[in-house]
Amino acid sequence: MISQILKGLSMDDLNNIYNELIMEHSMNSYNKKKLGKADLCDIGHNPNCGDEITLEVKMNGNVIEDMAFSGHGCAISQASTSIMIDTLKGKTIEEAKEIIKTFISMIKREEVDEKDLEKLEDAIAFKNVANMPARVKCALLAWHTLDDMISLEK
Ligand code: ZN
Repeated sequence: MISQILKGLSMDDLNNIYNELIMEHSMNSYNKKKLGKADLCDIGHNPNCGDEITLEVKMNGNVIEDMAFSGHGCAISQASTSIMIDTLKGKTIEEAKEIIKTFISMIKREEVDEKDLEKLEDAIAFKNVANMPARVKCALLAWHTLDDMISLEK
């Protein structure tokens, strides 16, 4: 289990990003399950690393009522997906799209307003991924996948 998670990460990577939050979400996520009744469902794939996640979304009007994921991948992709779900559950499509934009900007090391960063909640734990080009696609996978899904919904 541990060796599977650590695969492909150097010691520097570990020092930079392995805070408890990411560890917790990657190893034992309560968001990793099946929703049963999902309004939206799509698969995100990152061939660079082999990450593949299935994202399920349940909408209530304009609000993301519930989300869950399944699939496999590295610790970063798994934790990023799980923390994204925590952050965006209960948000409207408009709010979610704003937060997704902020997250992508943060990872791409673009200028981000401090107030917008706060809205990322726990997802700010991925800030250091910006320093690891090989991990950027892992961290962004779920966010891009969800962005596409809710964009089609509008
Ligand atoms: Zn990955």
